[in-house]
Amino acid sequence: MAKKIVILGGGVIGLATAWGCVKDGHDVTVIDRRKQLRDGCSFGNAGMLVPSHFIPLAAPGMIRLGLKWMWSRESPFAIRPRLSFDLISWLWKFRQASTQKQVDLNSPLLRDLNLAGRQAFLELEHEIPDGFELVKRGLVMLCATHEGLEEEVEVAELANELGVPATVMNPGELADLDPGIRMGVLGGVHFPLDCHLSPNRMMSSLEKHLEQQGVNFCWETSCDQFRSERGRALSRVNAVATSQGDIAGDEFVICGGAWSNLMAGQLGMNLPLQAGKGYSLTLDQPRQLPNVCSILKEARVAVTPMGSTLRFGGTMEIVGHDESISTSRLRGIVRSIPDYFPDFEESDFVGCNPWVGLRPCSPDGLPYVGRSQKHENLLIATGHGMMGISLSMITGKLIADAIEQRASGIDGLDRISPSRYA
Ligand SMILES: Cc1cc2nc3c(=O)[nH]c(=O)nc-3n(C[C@H](O)[C@H](O)[C@H](O)COP(=O)(O)OP(=O)(O)OC[C@H]3O[C@@H](n4cnc5c(N)ncnc54)[C@H](O)[C@@H]3O)c2cc1C
Repeated sequence: MAKKIVILGGGVIGLATAWGCVKDGHDVTVIDRRKQLRDGCSFGNAGMLVPSHFIPLAAPGMIRLGLKWMWSRESPFAIRPRLSFDLISWLWKFRQASTQKQVDLNSPLLRDLNLAGRQAFLELEHEIPDGFELVKRGLVMLCATHEGLEEEVEVAELANELGVPATVMNPGELADLDPGIRMGVLGGVHFPLDCHLSPNRMMSSLEKHLEQQGVNFCWETSCDQFRSERGRALSRVNAVATSQGDIAGDEFVICGGAWSNLMAGQLGMNLPLQAGKGYSLTLDQPRQLPNVCSILKEARVAVTPMGSTLRFGGTMEIVGHDESISTSRLRGIVRSIPDYFPDFEESDFVGCNPWVGLRPCSPDGLPYVGRSQKHENLLIATGHGMMGISLSMITGKLIADAIEQRASGIDGLDRISPSRYA
């Protein structure tokens, strides 16, 4: 039976959820407080689909690395210390999740979700063939140090054991793989199943496609409160109170990115989430244009060719919902590039407009996808951290499956339940 589905948030996860639900014949409304011509986290990111990212951010060694990096203003990671119960509790949960046992449990699930996410993108590409290009040439992790290369060789072994193909390459093999750019690295690992796309283009094509399918968009409309009532066992949401009046529905899906915890909190749900600020810089006329996207291992910088332009993205700053731009962090990104691509110079970036986005980060590095256990008609889709593009389309399908009470065929979904920290 067709239902009225109200999706709160019009980033990539909100649009993907609309995509999943409209296919089932539902009447779908997407609400976002930003203008239609928005530029949030789902736009200026690196646009990579990453089956290679089966190790969650919360992993052994991350706390040590984070503490080391905290003292540098140009490092790729930072936490602004502040007296916040939410931050302290999130850090504690991050520490608890950063064990080998948790990584071993969560890696197969991340692999399955990312592979299913890639498959779902192939479906979307088929549906809107002129909408965006999904470039299927893989991703290379480029290593400038022996230590970095040793670590990546270990990840490649693990990847192959998990069924994610990975090939260790020397500098000559890397040059053959991508003659488009000169590399000054010791070696790297090629993950052939990874893909890339231009998120700006994909987002506008998907939005247009959804409009054609009858999805209703309410821009510049903020979701301020919920109208809910207590049932015998579970509560029920009747409407969301917005800046444009109440919007009623049968099912409500919170897709508010880094602000989702504030929305869920209004309904008494504990959704541990921190905003992870990142930046990108896009060169319109780069000196050289690689064919394959890459991650500069030690610098933690993602490099993606998008048409004739080249985007560099990086940094993870846990600084609350602050969207200001730190020039020292940007300098950190720019300074690292010639270590990997020696023909590039810092001066190439003079006059290049920086972009900033807030990633929704859960403490265990897994998204929150599924039904709330407190409200019978509330679902959550957020917390995708560094993988929101990669996991977007499978998230849309999982939410649609939950609404239809359909089996999804992916094992271990209880580990991405939004109630796991309840
Ligand atoms: C530098 C960088 C590089 C990245 N690279 C990649 C990559 O290569 N691959 C990948 O998979 N991921 C990448 N990511 C992560 C990815 O961009 C995010 O995970 C993803 O965009 C999150 O999407 P979202 O829809 O959850 O959030 P958002 O895009 O932030 O959307 C949430 C929306 O909710 C709206 N909203 C919030 N509160 C309210 C309210 N109260 N009322 C109305 N509207 C509200 C907001 O206005 C916003 O539009 C990167 C991120 C960064 C910062």
